[in-house]
Amino acid sequence: MRFRPILMLSSIFLAKLAVATPCETSSIHTVPLNQTSSVAEDLEAAEIESRATPPNLDYRCGVKYGKCPSGTCCSSSGFCGTSKAHCRSPDCKIDYGHCDAHKSPKGPPTKDVGRPHMGQVPYGPQEVRSCAVPGTVALTFDDGPTRYTGDLLDLLDRYDAKATFFITGINNGKGQIDDFDLPWASLIERMQLSGHQIASHTWSHEDLSKVTPLQRQDQIEKNEAALRNILGSFPTYMRPPYSSCTRDSACGTDLGRLGYHIILYDIDTDDYKNDDPNLIQRSKDIFDQSLSTGSPTSRSWLVIAHDAHEQTVHNLTEHMLKTMKRTGYRPVTVGECLRDPRDLWSRPDDRMPSRKKKGPKSSGDPKLVSIDGTCGKHYTCLGSRFGLCCGSVNLCGNTTQHCGVGCQSDAGYCSVEVPPNGDAWDPKIQSKGHKSDADSILYTVGTAAVTSLFLALIVAMWM
Ligand SMILES: [Zn+2]
Repeated sequence: MRFRPILMLSSIFLAKLAVATPCETSSIHTVPLNQTSSVAEDLEAAEIESRATPPNLDYRCGVKYGKCPSGTCCSSSGFCGTSKAHCRSPDCKIDYGHCDAHKSPKGPPTKDVGRPHMGQVPYGPQEVRSCAVPGTVALTFDDGPTRYTGDLLDLLDRYDAKATFFITGINNGKGQIDDFDLPWASLIERMQLSGHQIASHTWSHEDLSKVTPLQRQDQIEKNEAALRNILGSFPTYMRPPYSSCTRDSACGTDLGRLGYHIILYDIDTDDYKNDDPNLIQRSKDIFDQSLSTGSPTSRSWLVIAHDAHEQTVHNLTEHMLKTMKRTGYRPVTVGECLRDPRDLWSRPDDRMPSRKKKGPKSSGDPKLVSIDGTCGKHYTCLGSRFGLCCGSVNLCGNTTQHCGVGCQSDAGYCSVEVPPNGDAWDPKIQSKGHKSDADSILYTVGTAAVTSLFLALIVAMWM
């Protein structure tokens, strides 16, 4: 009988591991506001559930094993856990546990906003694969914002180039774009201020042909609410992740009903395959070769790239801009290359209870709006025509130099700094069919727990 306390302790240890609570990890502590239950209630429900079902000792999940214990995430290779690597979407299996995909933006859902089909550009299920205005090139960047996006915006500003950003709301463990403690919202605001086009690339980058119609709608509407919380509007343009939107799944019809133009491309730079200084030339060649097949008097191009990749931002894009300059093409947004008026690129939704109010701190004397681009003690950049941020050398502007390190928050707007690995982008974890580091750790912990229980039992019986 003496082994009972040891056995009980081991069982509690195991149950704790199996039902790692949302509070034990920073990556899944956000509870959607539209959820009525509190965190405490969720935990209580999780505990009741864990008592009702035997803990999954292997922490396996997926078609063969079923769902993870409540509150834990099912990783791409089918292990339960609560680390960032387990929960990050789109790798995390949304049908077998909790995932970043299940988090929600704050504020009212967007489903009640009217979605009339305005203008001449076709809506889903029809797909748009090319531009219409000769002499234009629409550069598009998917999967961001990421830690490289600020540099990309600086580059585009230097070339006075406009581009289109297909924004994903919560992919690759970067957190929600509408979390104003993270740098993403200020980058998205900057895109808008600089005249770029903002479009949707879904909430968590799920394959829209493989999810259920309800999950598809969720993917669209959550990204709308998050962008609405930042900009006061949400886009009418979108690109399906993996360019996947099959006829059989009715994806295109659904996207049309939700009021979206489905935008594909006619130049695929393959930049995600060539994110290496020694390989990126291949992407440059693809771009140059395509442009050389026609003249700007008659041709236009719609180009796909990704601001999630270092070589795309720090190498390929400037090359594309130089080639365009040399050959006489104009870098414009997708909306512009399709002759769609700017008003039709988004739908206003001004119900933004969570929208962060920005501006100079109220302490001190009210400042005058800068009239010559200088700022500091007496002049603010807010409301001036020189840019919103007051940089360290007392000049207004919108670049990272003005809005980042040294930015004066009492004389204009300052953006949140992007940490060096802020979006947790790690291509190694992207590769499907391999156990992530987190999988290995959890598996080891799980195996260790089982071994310790077994040893405890033997020791107890021997005593
Ligand atoms: Zn993508």
